[in-house]
Amino acid sequence: MRIIVKSLDAVNAVGEAVLNGTYCQNAELEPSISDTRHVDADVTVVGSGPGGYVAAIKAAQLGFKTVCVEKNATLGGTCLNVGCIPSKALLNNSYLYHLAHGNDFESRGIEIQGISLNLEKMMAQKSGAVKALTGGIAHLFKQNKVTHVNGYGVITGKNQVTAKSADGDQVINTKNILIATGSEVTPFPGIEIDEETIVSSTGALSLKKVPEDLIVIGGGVIGVELGSVWQRLGSKVTAVEFLGHVGGMGIDMEISKNFQRILQKQGLKFKLGTKVMGATKRADGKIDVAVEAAAGGKNETLVCDVLLVCVGRRPFSQNLGLESVGIELDSRGRIPVNGRFQTNVPSIYAIGDVIAGPMLAHKAEDEGIICVEGMAGGAVHIDYNCVPSVIYTHPEVAWVGKTEEQLKEDGVPYKVGKFPFAANSRAKTNADTDGLVKILSHKDTDRMLGAHIVGTGAGDMINEATLAMEYGASCEDIARVCHAHPTVSEAFREANLAASFGKAINF
Ligand SMILES: Cc1cc2nc3c(=O)[nH]c(=O)nc-3n(C[C@H](O)[C@H](O)[C@H](O)COP(=O)(O)OP(=O)(O)OC[C@H]3O[C@@H](n4cnc5c(N)ncnc54)[C@H](O)[C@@H]3O)c2cc1C
Repeated sequence: MRIIVKSLDAVNAVGEAVLNGTYCQNAELEPSISDTRHVDADVTVVGSGPGGYVAAIKAAQLGFKTVCVEKNATLGGTCLNVGCIPSKALLNNSYLYHLAHGNDFESRGIEIQGISLNLEKMMAQKSGAVKALTGGIAHLFKQNKVTHVNGYGVITGKNQVTAKSADGDQVINTKNILIATGSEVTPFPGIEIDEETIVSSTGALSLKKVPEDLIVIGGGVIGVELGSVWQRLGSKVTAVEFLGHVGGMGIDMEISKNFQRILQKQGLKFKLGTKVMGATKRADGKIDVAVEAAAGGKNETLVCDVLLVCVGRRPFSQNLGLESVGIELDSRGRIPVNGRFQTNVPSIYAIGDVIAGPMLAHKAEDEGIICVEGMAGGAVHIDYNCVPSVIYTHPEVAWVGKTEEQLKEDGVPYKVGKFPFAANSRAKTNADTDGLVKILSHKDTDRMLGAHIVGTGAGDMINEATLAMEYGASCEDIARVCHAHPTVSEAFREANLAASFGKAINF
């Protein structure tokens, strides 16, 4: 059936039909005269991850006729389908299992007999959360009148996107294009991922049984999060990391060392400064993993049931038709943009994982919002120094701003204020005292330059630090803000007190 859609209402009708899977049945919507379906839009967003879907909603709220093209069956991109959301569901539930299964509950006077793991049910809870949230975006699109077009978006002109799908092509003529195609798993040369025994993060979120031995290539954020999940469920986990520290790039070294110690206490093993040379599947189903000291020399073969390849993500920037409009990628496959997220073609913008900067959902969201505000003539500004990072293990690790190493390297005079959770009343009451807050401030002005936390609740606490840094607060400002008692956030206040006045009260 062939259709030409001319009005936004009709576009929405098509979008809804695509959404409901009833597109073909509704084909009588407008009889057609050509093989191509046409849509007119002000803004066409390619990709519905946290960058794309948020940008599409904001664009519609600003009055733009907005279309969002998504190639996958569900909305929400990496974050909602195979990233932030499913990993956090498993982290939460595996932690609860670990508490109940280990002797933690018992030491609190909670005695439960016959604890067992129903992995299928745990996975079902995760899938339920993903389904509810991805479905929620479809609802938000309807509410905000964003037209969802299911198909693979290709740029076929400076003002045109063609969505390709099994149903045929849909041509969208549009004033502006916003590329939000995100990223994909970086492959490891020579190791083929089958998502069964050699898995990427995607496969590691859906293993059918708990591996006896799990080796993780990469001790960065995703590696330690997923390693923690399976370690809590019963696997012996070893993370092999090329760098000399855990937690990935951007983490403060003192925090990283503390974090590593805590994870090791929980049973995770690390082989730091070590590179993986290759992996071989054996006849008995096990996998031999050849490793070598990064500095050269010592070789070793490790054995596991499941190998998780977690060496990062690369921008999804191929086969988008970029070359047809003269957009060239940088050396790392990212789309270069200016301060307004515009490519060298003024009507084409890009945000999120597909451009430079930290690959984080909230960074993509913020870029999406300010990018479309910019299209509407607004100011465009983002301070990347104020984009927080979080590792959702137990305890969590979170940071924002500069590390101590960066301040040293930049020659900035600084002060340090620290406060351990062992001296925080709430952490003590909860018998959950691992970690500390470390604040870095300017030696002369007392302005907060960085906040680094390892401890329970760090992922929420870091938002207070981010707010403070966005507003240019001094450590004294924070130390003088009344904090509710007893809360773990009091440790944050105390660390600011230590940075500003040289001494905390309770330590
Ligand atoms: C296991 C894991 C855990 C993570 N945990 C966190 C976390 O806790 N916090 C955090 O901030 N970040 C986390 N991330 C990173 C986060 O998921 C990404 O930074 C974020 O999703 C990037 O958003 P985006 O909108 O740029 O792209 P994506 O979320 O990758 O979305 C891009 C979308 O574009 C679609 N697309 C691509 N090409 C086309 C095309 N040609 N046509 C149509 N559609 C197309 C894709 O199908 C996809 O839906 C995690 C990632 C992983 C893998």
